[in-house]
Amino acid sequence: MKGRRLRDVEEAIRVYRVWHRGLLQKRLRVLGTMSSEKWNRFYRKNRKELVLALWTLLTLHRQERETAISQLAWPLYRTRKQSFRNALQEEMRSIGVPGIANPTNSKLLGELYRISRWDARSIVRTFNKDLEREIREALGSVRHPWDRSELSRLIRDQVMKRDEWKAPQIGLHTALHSWGSAVNEFYKRSLVLAARFNFVPVESAVCDECIVLASQNPHTYRAVLAKPTPRHLQCIHRWRAEYVSLERPWLGG
Ligand SMILES: [Zn+2]
Repeated sequence: MKGRRLRDVEEAIRVYRVWHRGLLQKRLRVLGTMSSEKWNRFYRKNRKELVLALWTLLTLHRQERETAISQLAWPLYRTRKQSFRNALQEEMRSIGVPGIANPTNSKLLGELYRISRWDARSIVRTFNKDLEREIREALGSVRHPWDRSELSRLIRDQVMKRDEWKAPQIGLHTALHSWGSAVNEFYKRSLVLAARFNFVPVESAVCDECIVLASQNPHTYRAVLAKPTPRHLQCIHRWRAEYVSLERPWLGG
């Protein structure tokens, strides 16, 4: 199970990095294609005006935001669907339901796509915000007169540094969120007749709510429905059936 989940996280990180590199290169290219006359005109103005000019440049690119969101939403959706399928299969296996998990339900897939688009939108928005801040900082640390390639390098380095922690965070969020919804959907659609669940893993609970939930094991199915996982950002805890009786196990169709 751990291996499978790890592959989903790695896939999501890869997806984010590839998308991200493309977007960044496009933006830095704008710095490169500005005519020297235009650049010189920027030079003659003061620092504050240069920042504003660069912001304007970035705003122009933000008009392409919808395209960027769509570009990112599709691979995120594929990762999410894969993670959902793995989680469903794992849940079936762990309680002894035979068969191959195959999430094909159109309403469910539509919902996975909707969440992927929502995630993509928020990733793009945060990226834009961070990039603006990084440009501001880069401008502050480059000596006057500003060198175009030094500026590009500074911004690129800053953004790459940010990626080192941001990409794994996004990957983990995608995998955990999809995992949680797969488990919820499985029990909802399989019609639970009777069940007891544990909140696991117990030993690694550090957040207040997770410590309480783990200490109250076992839980009723009603409690599971009321508290879907992940309980908070980057939460690795989940529900595991200790005992369960289903009317008809749902395989994803
Ligand atoms: Zn937690």
